[in-house]
Amino acid sequence: MSAALFQALQQLLGANHVQDSEQASPFLTDKQGTYVGRVIAAVHPANTEEVAAVVRLCVAHGAPIVVQGGNTGLMGAATPDGSGTSVLLLLDRLNRVRAVDTDNDTLTVEAGCILQNLQDVARDAGRLFPLSLGAEGSCTIGGNLGTNAGGTAVLRYGNTRELTLGLEVVTAEGEIWDGLRGLRKDNTGYDLRDLYIGSEGTLGIITAATLKLFPLPKAQATALLAFDSLAQAVDLLSHARAGFGASLTAFELLTADCLALLREQFPDGPQPFLDAPQPWFALLELSDNHSEAHARQTFEEVLGEAFESGLLADALIAESLAQSEALWLLRENMSDAQQRAGRNMKHDISVPISRIVDFVAHTDALLQEHFPGVRNFTFGHLGDGNLHYNVAHPLDSSVEAHMQNYVALSELVHDSAHAHGGSISAEHGIGQRKLAMLPRYKSPVELDLMRRIKRALDPQNLLNPGKVFALDDDGESL
Ligand code: FAD
Repeated sequence: MSAALFQALQQLLGANHVQDSEQASPFLTDKQGTYVGRVIAAVHPANTEEVAAVVRLCVAHGAPIVVQGGNTGLMGAATPDGSGTSVLLLLDRLNRVRAVDTDNDTLTVEAGCILQNLQDVARDAGRLFPLSLGAEGSCTIGGNLGTNAGGTAVLRYGNTRELTLGLEVVTAEGEIWDGLRGLRKDNTGYDLRDLYIGSEGTLGIITAATLKLFPLPKAQATALLAFDSLAQAVDLLSHARAGFGASLTAFELLTADCLALLREQFPDGPQPFLDAPQPWFALLELSDNHSEAHARQTFEEVLGEAFESGLLADALIAESLAQSEALWLLRENMSDAQQRAGRNMKHDISVPISRIVDFVAHTDALLQEHFPGVRNFTFGHLGDGNLHYNVAHPLDSSVEAHMQNYVALSELVHDSAHAHGGSISAEHGIGQRKLAMLPRYKSPVELDLMRRIKRALDPQNLLNPGKVFALDDDGESL
């Protein structure tokens, strides 16, 4: 059966665009090296019609389909299981820009386009496509849509869902839904677009999207701010929202421990606030649509008021683009710094901003009580209530011993986020890694609604099975 499907795929796409499991091995391990899959074939269709034809062939052979973009996701969501019964769908050849409409401020692109290339296309058209994340040089817009990716500019522009007007999708039965509408208002029934976004390849294959463009800012201003407490940082965020309005584009938290780790792992990198006593820092960015002078003036006014009101302990304001880039490098290097220092437990939680201070104090204390000596590296998108609440091993114990506590420690962190009105995944999704955790935090009603949607859109459970939630052949939860 699998040999017949392999041959049929070769006939459909040409032998050059179909790989066996061994040839496809670079795509069969997830970004973090946790999951390794096997497949009947990995296929590289050239266009939407070929994607639809691949899906129809897989349906006819009862073969599950896993769609993968840049494979930068952190939940193992794009990695097939080890059974060798799936087909891996790679959209690298769907990489065309179909339209740039500057009157409508939209960009219509295929799902395999690399995010950074789309930022460049928008800039060349005198516009901004604001989605920006550490993996932008290799992640694809299809993967961004599949995970509803966030990034560093969510505070101002929203996440991928909010940046998307229309989609083209190949359904689980191999039909093509052309929903590539460039409309900002359209109330004609259920919003299928929002259903597919963030569904991690479990409801349909997104083959193209119409995305929103924005004016290119005329100027940007960046500062690294120092705080005596997390509560002070949260107060400053409120002050900055009021003072800068929509110009506030980023508010990214770092701790003194994060800065120390960056110094240790990147000794040649920027080293701001070397001997500063403050425990909390935030990278603030303002985008201004008037001029450099206006940006500077607004920046100094709002931060000056903050100093006078005791909302700020210290500030380092970038005086040039190079200095701004150096400050951003701190934030961008955090993942690598942690990776270099050894594996740690990552939690991309979110809680309402009003409850972040309580969440951090409560969870830090619980961790020390139950897992003495673990080290917190808490950083990220404070402006969206989304923290990377990462926990590294105690210095007197090994990474391996620490990782053995993954389930219990993560449960403690997630229970705390949930108790504070939060989510266990603000960015990375559920994939395989959080599959078993989801039922603990979603009500039976919500899970059942999700299952019913899955059954309706993918009746044979062939699209990325075993991700988000587990279903057996009858569509019931395992
Ligand atoms: P993949 O990893 O290939 O796939 C991810 C999921 O999307 C899978 O379920 C897959 O099946 C599905 N999918 C892929 N293509 C399609 C499609 N065409 N149609 C339907 N489903 C599809 N994430 C954030 O949200 N914010 C961040 O700030 C952020 N920073 C990161 C920094 C680093 C250094 C790294 C390594 C990762 C980061 N991520 C971040 C995670 C990751 O980059 C995002 O989840 C990204 O959106 C994944 O895109 P991808 O193309 O690599 O998708």
